[in-house]
Amino acid sequence: MANDILVLADHLRGQLSDTTAELVGKAKELAGAAGGQAVVALLGAADLAGQITGADTVVTVDHPTLTDYTPEAWEKTLLHIVNERQPRLVLIANTTIGMDLGAGLSAAWGAPLVAYTVRLEAEGSDIVATAQVYGGKLLAEVGLDGDKGICTVVAGSFPAPETTGTGGGGSPSVETVAPPAGLDDLKTSFLTMVEPEGGDVDITAAEILVSVGRGIGSQENLEDVQELGDALGAPLSASRPVTDAGWLPKTRQVGKSGLKVKPKVYLTFGISGAPEHLEGMRDAELIIACNTDANAPIFDVAHYGTTVDLVVLVPAMTESLG
Ligand SMILES: Cc1cc2nc3c(=O)[nH]c(=O)nc-3n(C[C@H](O)[C@H](O)[C@H](O)COP(=O)(O)OP(=O)(O)OC[C@H]3O[C@@H](n4cnc5c(N)ncnc54)[C@H](O)[C@@H]3O)c2cc1C
Repeated sequence: MANDILVLADHLRGQLSDTTAELVGKAKELAGAAGGQAVVALLGAADLAGQITGADTVVTVDHPTLTDYTPEAWEKTLLHIVNERQPRLVLIANTTIGMDLGAGLSAAWGAPLVAYTVRLEAEGSDIVATAQVYGGKLLAEVGLDGDKGICTVVAGSFPAPETTGTGGGGSPSVETVAPPAGLDDLKTSFLTMVEPEGGDVDITAAEILVSVGRGIGSQENLEDVQELGDALGAPLSASRPVTDAGWLPKTRQVGKSGLKVKPKVYLTFGISGAPEHLEGMRDAELIIACNTDANAPIFDVAHYGTTVDLVVLVPAMTESLG
């Protein structure tokens, strides 16, 4: 209905993400203020409906092509739901899948898309979205004053409701919707999920990270940094040029096309601080940067910094810890 806010449930391998709860909480707030409903669209995982709380309605659609994400099947199905329900706003997690799907739905449904949304407020009958631009260097306020819109929302932007379950509050009613026509006749199909090699350190779980960039100069110089990491009990992470060069595995890359980390301490050596890198680490509690260029943008986000050459600093730090 016109004032409903529709959330696309974000799930992988039978697990709903925390972001789903955050989006449900915000949807309930916005819809409630406008006399609408918070509706969750759950594609290809009807068995998870019981885990969603706090919404008014959960709409489930099941079909073999929806179990794993493909843009074609999911976009067709989501379009089917929004055409039927005509929500005021669709909220999707700003994941790789969400950005892909949000853009496709925007074109197919004829609704504006705000990607990288971090704040959403109702202003009268309008909805104002605040979104990150330039890798989070600037924030843009966008008025969604038409009758429909889509936001892909960055994880952690809204508090998850405190009650247990996804979304908090009471149990929603569950409606099962028949899949749209055409799902048996798609041009694309899901083959297999390619996962990163197992056995590597999970840098998203580390409390301290020692992160290296192109300024390290060569793979040989990594040995010294590894020794410092060992002395600190910290795994090594890296900027993209380092993983592109194969000096560290892709599982260690921080940033837009890597992982987002939030350690207690993020120590950087020879990283310039490009927006794509900052996107993955700017929420670290304490950022300490070593870069010989005093104008490097990493110093804009660092709490402490030094322009000492890393080749000199790294072994000296390891020695002082020994
Ligand atoms: C779509 C897209 C996605 C991307 N995704 C990512 C991503 O996920 N992660 C990521 O990191 N990047 C990503 N990038 C790349 C990004 O734009 C930058 O190119 C990259 O972050 C730069 O890496 P860097 O800081 O290591 O290298 P550089 O920018 O080359 O910086 C090296 C720094 O080292 C310093 N330095 C040199 N020698 C020394 C020394 N001896 N001691 C101390 N300092 C020294 C220099 O002053 C310089 O500032 C992406 C780009 C695009 C377009």
